[in-house]
Amino acid sequence: MITKKLDEVAVMCGGTLAHDHDCDIRVKGVFTDSRKIEDGRLFVPLVGEKFDGHAFAAAALEGGAGAVLWQRDRGLPPAGPAIVVEDTLAALQALAKAYLAEVGCRVVGITGSNGKTTTKDMVYALLGTSFKVHKTGGNFNNHIGLPLTILEMPQDTEIAVLEMGMSGRHEIESLSAIASPEVAVITNIGEAHLLQLGSRHEIARAKVEIISGMKPGGLLVYHGDEPLIPLVLDEPETIKPEGLKTFTFGMDPDKNDDYPTGMMFHGKGVIFTTHRHPEEGLDLPLLGQHNVINCLAALAVADYFGIGKDGIREGLSGLRLTGMRIEQITAPSGLTVLNDAYNASPLSMKAAIDVLDSLKGHRRKIAVLGDMLELGPKELEFHAEVGEYAADGKVDMLYTFGPLSEETAEAARRKRPDLPVYHFSDKEELASHLAGQVHPKDIVLIKASRGMKMEEIVDALVKKD
Ligand code: ATP
Ligand code: MG
Repeated sequence: MITKKLDEVAVMCGGTLAHDHDCDIRVKGVFTDSRKIEDGRLFVPLVGEKFDGHAFAAAALEGGAGAVLWQRDRGLPPAGPAIVVEDTLAALQALAKAYLAEVGCRVVGITGSNGKTTTKDMVYALLGTSFKVHKTGGNFNNHIGLPLTILEMPQDTEIAVLEMGMSGRHEIESLSAIASPEVAVITNIGEAHLLQLGSRHEIARAKVEIISGMKPGGLLVYHGDEPLIPLVLDEPETIKPEGLKTFTFGMDPDKNDDYPTGMMFHGKGVIFTTHRHPEEGLDLPLLGQHNVINCLAALAVADYFGIGKDGIREGLSGLRLTGMRIEQITAPSGLTVLNDAYNASPLSMKAAIDVLDSLKGHRRKIAVLGDMLELGPKELEFHAEVGEYAADGKVDMLYTFGPLSEETAEAARRKRPDLPVYHFSDKEELASHLAGQVHPKDIVLIKASRGMKMEEIVDALVKKD
């Protein structure tokens, strides 16, 4: 992590020392959450809608922080080592950019509507077989998380694998400007954040912003099944680095540089071959065809960095994912639960239903689907689409939870009148009804947007079961 004298930090973030005599003070790392003070770190007080971190700066110093940043318009800094800046967030980002340049590592940036974290974990596992790699921890993928990730990076990092998330236009552009990726990945374009952006085309533009800050001659790896990406790449207003190279992946052999040529799904994952990796099957310990697609993106990055066959095998076998993404849990009774309560959008709902559909050896396939949030004016249509998709021979029983999901239930009933469909507006009632229905040989998928807290149903089911 960043370890510097305070006067050096001041230069890197465009600030000035509050007291000249502080120049020899050394800080090790930064933090923004005043509840988690770590000795010797630099506290960065951020100004949010509800809180202003400056209110906690004095306490942070008393609690052991090495120094604080301080925004000029907030008056005089507290007693103790401080750097005065115009804007603490901009200073945090400038510090990260400067530290990244100093470490001199290569950067892979990953964006997309779904699968960013999964693809990041795969790229990390593959590159980690030959390089010292640092990756975004958890889901620290925004204008604050990305700089914090960079500043945590060990000095000897060779490649940084950074997830870039967004909820509106020009956010990925600013992340790309901080990180200057040499390789950028766009996993896909979905419907998440449609509410804020208005159309899928606009979402595509927001994702393609990742190339705006790329190094000249860099490589963009993108999902070639999505026609909006090449469309946006060709738009005159798209900011492109010089000599940009592209590589596409997806299901369609006619549109992509790499695509699956064979997939054999089993209870714990999939063995697959691809056009570029035709040798004996690669063993991916994850469920779902969508993860094969994510893996194609990761393989393209691994190939770019020269990871050979053995490295790819070793990397895939050691893959560790960030939790709650289709986590398979076996309850004490033997009931199988697929916990995908982490998040949901129409694309990822369908992917999860496909996973449920692909798993063999269970008595009944039960889907428990909750509301997908922030989808904008067409939200009911999206819920209906998911209901029809589930009813299309893929599930044996459907539970829905939440006001929007009533439409999921209705659409499923229309599509398949004989399908048992139960809608609930109370989570506990749903959980107890479901617990009374399940058989140990069943498999239950649980998925909704984060805000629906569907893991409570997972817990109830696994406990009561
Ligand atoms: P977030 O925006 O929350 O950071 P993310 O893009 O990082 O999400 P992941 O955390 O990797 O995405 O995956 C979240 C869920 O999206 C997974 O549990 C899975 O259901 C679904 N998913 C992952 N990859 C794909 C894909 N390629 N296509 C469709 N759905 C996917
Ligand atoms: Mg993520």
